[in-house]
Amino acid sequence: MISVGDGQTRILAQVSERTAPELLPLADTRGRVLWESVRASFDVPPTDNSAVDGYAVSSTDIPASGTRELMVVGDLPAGGVFAGSLRPGEAIRIMTGAPMPAGADTVYPQEVVERHGDRVRVPPMVKAANVRLRGEDVQSGSVVIEAGAVLRPQELGLIASLGHGQVLVTQRPRVALLSTGDEVAEPGGPRKPGQIYDANRFTLRGLAEQCGALVSDLGIVPDRREALRARLEQAAAVAHIVVTSGGVSVGAYDLVKEVLGEIGGIDFWQVAMQPGRPLAVGRIGSAHFFGLPGNPVASMLTFILFVRPALYALAGRRRVLPELRSARALEPMRKKQGRREFKRGILTCEAGDWRVRTTGPQGSGILSSMVAGNCLIVLEEERGDVVAGEEVLIEPWGWEA
Ligand code: AMP
Ligand code: MG
Repeated sequence: MISVGDGQTRILAQVSERTAPELLPLADTRGRVLWESVRASFDVPPTDNSAVDGYAVSSTDIPASGTRELMVVGDLPAGGVFAGSLRPGEAIRIMTGAPMPAGADTVYPQEVVERHGDRVRVPPMVKAANVRLRGEDVQSGSVVIEAGAVLRPQELGLIASLGHGQVLVTQRPRVALLSTGDEVAEPGGPRKPGQIYDANRFTLRGLAEQCGALVSDLGIVPDRREALRARLEQAAAVAHIVVTSGGVSVGAYDLVKEVLGEIGGIDFWQVAMQPGRPLAVGRIGSAHFFGLPGNPVASMLTFILFVRPALYALAGRRRVLPELRSARALEPMRKKQGRREFKRGILTCEAGDWRVRTTGPQGSGILSSMVAGNCLIVLEEERGDVVAGEEVLIEPWGWEA
């Protein structure tokens, strides 16, 4: 029996490679992972400029009290550049974003001055007010975004502000997905007596896509050795990671273990977790293999715990494990010491107090608990029963977005 943490460590030690880089138009890279750090080759903003619409002056002309009249000698729209240099007693009308004229170091917002013809009357003002300084956002030569960062809208904007129209990102990892089991039927088709519709290929596809992967759907494989072997070999040829569900327990038709033993290397894990069943981890050729349990909640959970970090590592992400938060339990929870338990929770906030309750029955086949929940409640190994009011760890969903 291994712990969840040890399992994650072993998987991350296996995934030492990244997918290859690709150069893409910046607009197509949201959610992708930066291949190499981006450095600034110039300051942003490139010059001191005005933060408001108003009048640029030299601070030596600011009155200590009362007001002073200055001569307006020019007009600077955004994007304009003032050719000359401001002399004592002069002001320049300036628009937000326009470069500060030589000789000026302070801007009056237009609301605080009185304009009469070509003159402007100004009150006292703090020196250097309303000026955005050259390089105050980004300094030339500095690392602006590190390799391994996920590109969110704000990263895209910052990269654009440095003038880059293309960016080098890692290729999306490819995942091949298949379900096993004679009882598993394709949604949209008929369901014979004794059959259930395939849920796992849809939950797992969704999870893989949330992780940024490209999914090849290899369908449902019956519990027959030759069929399973052929489909797994096909999967390994097209994917970085092969994911199956079902067929990894100890039933008479649980063939994944046997077949993997023939065509690849396989490690069969008993992970000290609940829900959770044995998990098969290994390789088929150059592909990583994850044989997840068949129960729908267990397969989602083992994907989140073990496949997601592997996918993130392959994609080159710096952070591959989620940051847990804490909340106050609204109800008592049964918990067995010595294993990590995951309950589906409903997290709410009342008067600044984060609270969590379970979604109800927690069986590993109760997929509706995943629908009702908005977080996982993570109860650590050493913990026993939870009393109402205790702090518990939670993983809010949406972290992967
Ligand atoms: P297994 O590990 O193959 O014995 O499957 C464990 C349980 O999960 C059984 O009740 C299966 O019917 C169920 N199961 C297996 N595969 C799927 C699937 N793709 N979708 C929904 N339930 C499944
Ligand atoms: Mg099965």
